[in-house]
Amino acid sequence: DRIISAHLMMEEEVAELSLRPRYLAEYIGQAQVKENLKIYIEAAKMRKEALDHVLLYGPPGLGKTTLSNIIANELGVSIRTTSGPAIERPGDLAAILTNLQEGDVLFIDEIHRLHRTVEEVLYPAMEDFALDIIIGKGPSARSVRLDLPSFTLVGATTRAGLLSAPLRDRFGVVSRLEYYTVEELSYIVSRTADILQADIVGEAADEIGKRSRGTPRIANRLLKRVRDYAQVKGDGIMTAEIARKALRMIQVDDLGLDEIDHKMLRAIMTHFRGGPVGLDTIAATIGEESQTIEDVYEPYLLQIGFLQRTPRGRTVTASAYRHLGLPVPNADGG
Ligand code: ADP
Repeated sequence: DRIISAHLMMEEEVAELSLRPRYLAEYIGQAQVKENLKIYIEAAKMRKEALDHVLLYGPPGLGKTTLSNIIANELGVSIRTTSGPAIERPGDLAAILTNLQEGDVLFIDEIHRLHRTVEEVLYPAMEDFALDIIIGKGPSARSVRLDLPSFTLVGATTRAGLLSAPLRDRFGVVSRLEYYTVEELSYIVSRTADILQADIVGEAADEIGKRSRGTPRIANRLLKRVRDYAQVKGDGIMTAEIARKALRMIQVDDLGLDEIDHKMLRAIMTHFRGGPVGLDTIAATIGEESQTIEDVYEPYLLQIGFLQRTPRGRTVTASAYRHLGLPVPNADGG
């Protein structure tokens, strides 16, 4: 898999557990989201009620799963974790729901990928903590309502826009996670190095922070590659120079762009005169999935102003040309 992909690689899943902050106070950044959650959690605890359902959205690797675990920890309840595509039938969800304890957190990752029939079971569960079961078939069929323990659903999605309106409306708290600043990422890198008992100088942490595309998961991944490099090519200490060399070796540039970003920007510049060009066309040209481009690559390129979305497709900006060292075409398209 690619170094820059913000999606989780298999072997990382276990490793990530130990890197995850466990309480709000340890969770870096996302000040507004944290502040709100802190109040809602405290209020729910004072009333001895389940916290309102929470929807977290934002690009992969920004800390949605981490935050959902923190919510459960702060509430002092258990968390049950699953994902939209993993719940195949309504009965699967019913089984999960009936096994929850009072006040528990149910975390559903990629909630936009829930099957419609499963989603319908979720509506009464979220609203009334009830499960409607149909018994029998044909004219004698009747609906029976089962009570569920009160619980908090925490849903995570990379794109809130893909959620159906009835589902979205049932979340009392909707929070968008933002890309992290370089300072925050640098801090996260230092914290992770500490946990891994690895030596890193501040400047090297900054260097990694700068190239992490605003994403903690990428920051932690780059850190591990730099640590490898420091061990083999140096004396184990991660200096700024070691960090720069290691990152150059894995083709991550000063802004954290990798060869796919470069390929994509170049393709738009050379084949489509800078755009506008549709996402699917770009994807086909560079041999990537549209979905990957839209979820992983494009958001960051939009964020740093290298790409713009127009009704007719994507266009690259003058700063993207400059970054790639290419002449900026005239405004008239020449
Ligand atoms: P998501 O669910 O949004 O894809 P995760 O919650 O799995 O992201 O976070 C990815 C990794 O980044 C985690 O293992 C965690 O170590 C780290 N991380 C995320 N957010 C933070 C944060 N605010 N502070 C410190 N580390 C973080």
